[in-house]
Amino acid sequence: MEQELGTLFEAQKIESMIMENEQKLLQAPIKLKTMEEEMSMVRQKIEKEKEIIEELDKERRKKEKELETDKEKIKKLEVKLYDVKTNKEYQALLKEIEAAKETNDRTEEDVLVLMDKIEDLRKDNEASTEQLKKREKESEVEKIEIEKEIQSMDEIITRLTTERDNLLSVVSDNLRNIYGILRERRGGVAVTNVKNGVCMGCHMNIPPQLFIEVTKNKKLIQCPSCNRILFFREND
Ligand SMILES: [Zn+2]
Repeated sequence: MEQELGTLFEAQKIESMIMENEQKLLQAPIKLKTMEEEMSMVRQKIEKEKEIIEELDKERRKKEKELETDKEKIKKLEVKLYDVKTNKEYQALLKEIEAAKETNDRTEEDVLVLMDKIEDLRKDNEASTEQLKKREKESEVEKIEIEKEIQSMDEIITRLTTERDNLLSVVSDNLRNIYGILRERRGGVAVTNVKNGVCMGCHMNIPPQLFIEVTKNKKLIQCPSCNRILFFREND
């Protein structure tokens, strides 16, 4: 019995390693997804910025056209100055020209402000695009790394599973069944060590008399609290 219990204990250790690797395996796709989502957010931001730049540029072109039309208008008004007959008309026309020029100045100012803004935004946008490209390159490398990790974890799990099954194959059907049931019901931990009279599976105290029995490893003893198979190994 002692040997069988020892074998189960070893099988359990391997079981725990399998679970660790399975956990890591679950994390890998999450890492990949998070990476993709982060980049996708940056991409969207860059696209949005481009749209804003395009809008502002449209606005700038519109204003420049306005400017041209207004300049034409001023020229025509100035030509008209030679044709006016009365001083009153002349003054009125001058006023009109003055007003048109003021409008023109404001439009010109608007165009300059827009150009500045567009330039700043373009610079930012280019920098973000550069950064994204860099990130995409890095993530390609990371992706390959993660895929390699996944593959190696798969291999490790396969190897460990074979090792565990080999160990389980040499214990009695009864023990193997109990082990299997407990593994299902107790989060993958069917066999547990006992330290200082405490079950390391559920951390409950074991009655002293029972603990003495457990330390002998002579028979199948299950924890009164969590039902796990108890095994005693001092330095483990
Ligand atoms: Zn317990």
